[in-house]
Amino acid sequence: MLRTHTCGQLRLSDVNQNVVLTGWVQRSRDKGSVLWVDLRDRYGVTQLIFEEAKTDADVLSAGRSLGREYVIQIEGLVVERLSKNDKLPTGEIEVKVSKVKVLNPSKLPPFTIEDDTDGGEELRMKYRYLDLRRNPVRESLQLRHKMAQHTRMFLDGQNFIEVETPVLIKSTPEGARDFVVPSRIHNGEFYALPQSPQTFKQLLMVSGFDRYYQIVKCFRDEDLRADRQPEFTQIDCEMSFITQEDILNTFEGLIRHLFKQVKGVELPDVPRMKYDEAMQFYGSDKPDTRFDMKFVDITDLTKGKNFQVFESAELVVGINAKGCSEYSRKQIDELTEFVKRPQVGAKGLVYVQYRTDGTIKSSVDKFYSGDELKGWTDKFNAEPGDLILLLAGEAFSTRKQLNELRLLMGDRLGFRDKNKFSALWVLDFPLLEWSEETQRYHAMHHPFTSPKPEDIKLLDTDPGKVRANAYDMVINGTEVGGGSIRIHDRATQQMMFNHLGFSEAEAKKQFGFLMEAFEFGAPPHGGIAFGFDRLCSIFGGADSIRDFIAFPKNNAGKDVMIDTPSTISEEQLKELGIEVKVKSDKL
Ligand code: ASP
Repeated sequence: MLRTHTCGQLRLSDVNQNVVLTGWVQRSRDKGSVLWVDLRDRYGVTQLIFEEAKTDADVLSAGRSLGREYVIQIEGLVVERLSKNDKLPTGEIEVKVSKVKVLNPSKLPPFTIEDDTDGGEELRMKYRYLDLRRNPVRESLQLRHKMAQHTRMFLDGQNFIEVETPVLIKSTPEGARDFVVPSRIHNGEFYALPQSPQTFKQLLMVSGFDRYYQIVKCFRDEDLRADRQPEFTQIDCEMSFITQEDILNTFEGLIRHLFKQVKGVELPDVPRMKYDEAMQFYGSDKPDTRFDMKFVDITDLTKGKNFQVFESAELVVGINAKGCSEYSRKQIDELTEFVKRPQVGAKGLVYVQYRTDGTIKSSVDKFYSGDELKGWTDKFNAEPGDLILLLAGEAFSTRKQLNELRLLMGDRLGFRDKNKFSALWVLDFPLLEWSEETQRYHAMHHPFTSPKPEDIKLLDTDPGKVRANAYDMVINGTEVGGGSIRIHDRATQQMMFNHLGFSEAEAKKQFGFLMEAFEFGAPPHGGIAFGFDRLCSIFGGADSIRDFIAFPKNNAGKDVMIDTPSTISEEQLKELGIEVKVKSDKL
């Protein structure tokens, strides 16, 4: 080895030892008579010292010529430091250098390689390999590594078998577009990259594998959105001969195991909520349950008083922002502006201040008496000091708008602490979802999800009402995983495809292999997949998933480091039998 120790290793007990260290020059401080150099590697930073009076002149001058990020090897004696640094594990010692060897010089890095860097996002992405030298980024990836190891340990302990499924496959509809790969040998034909290994894991159940998992890359060609990656990783799992209850218990076990092992947090039992309830009380299928602030419906109490906005509304619903009654006009105006933003889309905001002195003041005092307003605050169980915020309109969209306002108030009131964790199962999702765009029903989860048997009869009459054996796990208001109990017989699967608007021939062309497999003894089965990048970012207390991915794409779906997507040569295109019209700016 080129070194005897790492840069994070030496302590007081090593004083008087001669050591060899290797690493990167983080920075130098030259005080004339003394030169200090911080040497860094993955394990830490060790201070090197060169002294004019004691160090060999050649060594000192070599020390002075070291630039930032030079890769060096040094030999020297471990000595106790005069002024110690208690923030650094190696802060009690330094190494008196007797030999320096430059293993490789470095150009000046485009940003400082320190915890707080001066590099902007784009620059950091272009030089991601330098960004990865920084502690916070490396630590995020180490957390990811730990999460993966503990996931494997837990699932292995539960008899799951890790199986790799192919990457060049045929389209699986999970609601997004496929990335396609042209075939050279079969010109005009294409592979698709998996949006998930869904059909393969089901086939493994038909094969009798009983319990499968894979930490696997998935690809979805979706519209760009902040923090969405075209390729991402799932912890993908499937089990046979189980009920929904078994799946919930097994994977709640996984999540609690991860919290315990990786964060030292004892996560309590994960509560469960029905989809309908989540929508009714939180206006979202992924409520943030770190705080309460449930919706209260006061539609009945508002009618017949000539206030047109409420009179014409299907729903009048609100939240109680506790302790906010003394908000200023300006603060309330800000909230009104917030709900009126096009992204939220409300027409306006009604408020009721239950003042600390016990009086009630509202923006609709003209229409409602004090007693009537007291009736509202009672329904909210409000106390003096509370502020009721109300929205009105069509039920579904009003709840969605109120969800945004609830989250904003949760932020303002400090309820959304990243170091507090609240997990939730959301159950009984609808099987189908109406799409205005295509004017037909789509599978809300995917077409292999089984309807609740008691709801099958509604498929012909009221398809939107059919519930699925489908579930999501939500942590802190983010969906981290989702799955379902599957259909495992051909007839039901065929019927499902019919309802989704596939002709028999189309269904056969795309999924004939699966339906045929169902005729060869398919066991009842179900599963789940967790978004691994997102899960890591939640464990890391970060908003963005990017730092938990070694080489992520930017918000435009590009890797600016390797510069992709990019054009390919005429020759490659010809071989693939593809003709493209290339925009002139790309030539
Ligand atoms: N394949 C599904 C998904 O990617 C998960 C599952 O149903 O197991 O969302």
